[in-house]
Amino acid sequence: MKWGGVQYDAIVIGGGHNGLVAAARLASGGARVLLAEAGQRVGGAAVTSEITPGYSASAVAHLLEGFPRRIERKLKLHKHGLRYAARDVATVALDRDGHHILLPRTRKEFAGFRDLLPKDADVYREYVARRRALAEFVAPLLGERPPALNDPDALKRFLRRSVWRAALKGGSTMQSLLRVLPEAIGDRLDAEFESPLLKGALAFDATLGGAEGPYAPGTSFRAILREAMRMQGQGAMLPVGGMGAFSDALAASVAAAGGDVRVNARVMRILVEEGKAVGVELSGGIEVRAARVLSAIAPRTTMLDLVGARHVETDDLRELRHLVPRGTTAKINLALDRLPEFSGLAPELHGARLLIAPSLADLDEAANAARSAALPFEPVMEILLPSVTDPLLAPEGQHVMSIIVHHVPHAMAGGWDAHREALVQRVVRMLGNYAPGIEDMMIAGEILTPPDIEEKYGLAGGDWHQGDIRLDRLFAFRPAPAYGRCETPLPGLWLCGAGSHPGGGITGLPGWLAADAVLSDGGSA
Ligand SMILES: Cc1cc2nc3c(=O)[nH]c(=O)nc-3n(C[C@H](O)[C@H](O)[C@H](O)COP(=O)(O)OP(=O)(O)OC[C@H]3O[C@@H](n4cnc5c(N)ncnc54)[C@H](O)[C@@H]3O)c2cc1C
Repeated sequence: MKWGGVQYDAIVIGGGHNGLVAAARLASGGARVLLAEAGQRVGGAAVTSEITPGYSASAVAHLLEGFPRRIERKLKLHKHGLRYAARDVATVALDRDGHHILLPRTRKEFAGFRDLLPKDADVYREYVARRRALAEFVAPLLGERPPALNDPDALKRFLRRSVWRAALKGGSTMQSLLRVLPEAIGDRLDAEFESPLLKGALAFDATLGGAEGPYAPGTSFRAILREAMRMQGQGAMLPVGGMGAFSDALAASVAAAGGDVRVNARVMRILVEEGKAVGVELSGGIEVRAARVLSAIAPRTTMLDLVGARHVETDDLRELRHLVPRGTTAKINLALDRLPEFSGLAPELHGARLLIAPSLADLDEAANAARSAALPFEPVMEILLPSVTDPLLAPEGQHVMSIIVHHVPHAMAGGWDAHREALVQRVVRMLGNYAPGIEDMMIAGEILTPPDIEEKYGLAGGDWHQGDIRLDRLFAFRPAPAYGRCETPLPGLWLCGAGSHPGGGITGLPGWLAADAVLSDGGSA
């Protein structure tokens, strides 16, 4: 319906990267689209912020790993300004004594890896090959809508196709997958490897973004899922100008295709008439109507707060009530007056993704502490120095450091205000073990706890996935059985954010799949 004289076919709620991808896809498919973002700018958790004048960093998410090239091309993001400062960013597991492990990407790197870890090298090669084989099997499922659970023919077709694909990959694929599904990554790594540091790094990657520790069932599959997600993308990439530049390119793509992007436009309510979603009410009481509404915000908020429980089936209500997003990662961004020196780290690796996760025991301790609402004694983290490859982020010769702290409590007794400083101190102390003198280089910094991330950037609960990414909440069951195909049981309403299939991360896939489904459903007219 009209707003400022425009008649819309579709309204997208939330201007995070998934909402932007959905709006751009719909607009390029011929739909007249309005995207309503509550905040002052688009991007959600994919934005760049100024730490202090002259020093900027990706505020929350900082690395693109699974953003598909096909989406980048179709939305012409290069034409709209997207450039990369670094591609195929390496991962290094930092060691206190300087014997850092570069996870090998090439034969030459593998030779160095073998010199460092002669007992683990061949096992690692086999482990990676196995993980890749399973991820290749899973990857296509992430790039398509799951089958309808209530359509026996569709389900039969899907299962037949999966069995056929597994057979093509060799008889053992299905067997390996079934074995991996309930397995804990820690048990698998303990069974295969000797190096505590290597095990720590591999388990860090499998569990990042979730609350489970390395010995939780299902975490081995999370390693496969993450690899499959990475396969959608082009390797780890850093956009020039940080994540904000990536979101700006998406917004430019929406505008170029004729879509309307409105900021400071919070959706207060989804309008429901005669059992159908027919539009939204914005703050200020403005009603905008359209035959299709796509929500890129958390499924629980969408259904319980914006639609209202009275329009939701009782069984679904029970499922949705349990979907409380509770993030367990914090972000710390630092402005530094020089490049920190990590003892023993080759100069060319200062632009790499640096992990501090010394062992499975350290990860487990951090996860257990977070679960009991306590700060980890020795935090585990992922560190980037994006100004190494993107010098305009800081004044000449100076730098910014972007740190994801894995396994922090969602809430602290007495509130986070009393504990923020203690977390920063622990993180800086831990960093100092690897980069001596780091505290003397710090000019300014900001810390974002999970509730801060929600408040400042709109990511529900500060949760990486806008809600659990457990085994029973994946594919056709994400976020809940009746909602697994992007469309909700309420006609006209679709889900398109990280809370729906295939989950969180800067992949754009939830937005893309939902928009495609809406277009196939005749959403452009
Ligand atoms: C600390 C941390 C670090 C991370 N790092 C990475 C990383 O390096 N790489 C990676 O791939 N992923 C990373 N992630 C995950 C990633 O940030 C999220 O999965 C992703 O941002 C989700 O995108 P989205 O568009 O679905 O939702 P969001 O980014 O949450 O966007 C939702 C938008 O909706 C808006 N909104 C909310 N309510 C309303 C309303 N009522 N009306 C209108 N608008 C509304 C919000 O303001 C927000 O802009 C990280 C997550 C965390 C917490």
